[in-house]
Amino acid sequence: MQSPWPLTPGAMPRVASDAAERLDEKPAYLTVAGVPLGRQGSALVGLKDTGLDISLPDGLALHYDREGRLTRAATPNIQWRRGLSHRTVWLRKRSGLEGGGLETRLLTPDLSDRIADETSVRAQEVLAAWQVRSRPLIKYEGEPARAAELLDRRLSRAAAFDAQAARIDHERFAAVYGDIPILPPDQYRALVLLATGGCAYNRCTFCGFYRDSAFRRRTVDEFRTHASEAVAYHGQDAAVRRGIFLGQANALTGPRSWRKEILRVANEKWNLLASRDDLAKRRCVRETEISSFIDAFTGRGMDADEFRELRSLNLRRLYLGVETGDPQLLEWLRKPATIAAMIETVHAAKQGGVSIGIILLVGAGGEAHFESHVRETAGLLRAMRLGKGDYVYLSPMTEAAGAEYSALAAEAGIEPLSAARMAEQTSRLKAVFLDVPRNRRPYIAHYEVAQFVY
Ligand code: SF4
Repeated sequence: MQSPWPLTPGAMPRVASDAAERLDEKPAYLTVAGVPLGRQGSALVGLKDTGLDISLPDGLALHYDREGRLTRAATPNIQWRRGLSHRTVWLRKRSGLEGGGLETRLLTPDLSDRIADETSVRAQEVLAAWQVRSRPLIKYEGEPARAAELLDRRLSRAAAFDAQAARIDHERFAAVYGDIPILPPDQYRALVLLATGGCAYNRCTFCGFYRDSAFRRRTVDEFRTHASEAVAYHGQDAAVRRGIFLGQANALTGPRSWRKEILRVANEKWNLLASRDDLAKRRCVRETEISSFIDAFTGRGMDADEFRELRSLNLRRLYLGVETGDPQLLEWLRKPATIAAMIETVHAAKQGGVSIGIILLVGAGGEAHFESHVRETAGLLRAMRLGKGDYVYLSPMTEAAGAEYSALAAEAGIEPLSAARMAEQTSRLKAVFLDVPRNRRPYIAHYEVAQFVY
């Protein structure tokens, strides 16, 4: 594996001096400044609704949220995704000769610190050059002096985001959230609000996300306080988060009246954000959507009428960890669900107007269950009558720390799938919808848990 750390300027692959991405040519940027960096060439600094980007002449791009927190550093083939949890995932595009795809690695806290420190040094160089040689902006909207002032403010915050700032920010994050171990891939940019903590079941053999935390449900008042703290923590970035995700594993587990109140509070918070400023108003009005995980044991007590009521409170999509349609495998995985209960939940939600995201475990049950997993899952997906607006995520089997799956599989003599067999199972599961017209198919995508950061 390549070193996850070629970010040190001296170690960076130096490329042509005009390698800076042309931010001024992209409509998303409201203000763009060119900043000469001496012999290195020029950097471009771009301000957009969702934050600030710096494109350096050696091909490195730095991305920050509206509060100046580093979210991503990227070269053409390698990127470092940093979450609010100060976790950083390193991703490298494999060449065709290596089989394509992405190589992924979660970095140690020390490396996360180094990334924050070294990107801060690069951003400080740009800030110093911008402040010394004031040049006209390449692109701006409205009054140029005001645009330059805003750019200066955001660039200063980005440059100050070193390891110490990142750690302080993480302490604030942890005080509000503890940890967010997983979200569906289309929800990584959501505003997470925790109605519950942990998982009410916590015994699936492959899952270790909540092993160390006891399940807890917040009262409506506690949830309201938490939601205010979460919005305060996100600061200016709250308004550009994409919808609300109610956490954690089974956020709808509770009495019907409680579920309704939780959604009401979530809507209140969102509407407050929308009233703050014009940008927030534009984005919030467009995206008042609430999502959550659901389990068959939670869904069992909910009928189409209730889902309809929750839909009217902006519940848009529910994500169900189906894993497999093979009942024997489901039982062996110790999943607290039956095939019938999952179908019932999906039908009720869809009748109530709520879309569904299904998560399947590719490779579950290894070679021993290869055929039954594919066959029964295909049958289950058809029985669920998924269509446009629904999602199917194919998640490669990865056992989390603290889970028992591998030990149980070894005991039962279950061989894991090779990379080639994983690919085969993936394409056979994807093929389930090939006979459905494109405009009526659910959206099907990979779900790489290892690439998650919030
Ligand atoms: S897979 Fe879902 S239900 Fe099972 S332990 Fe993990 S969070 Fe709980």
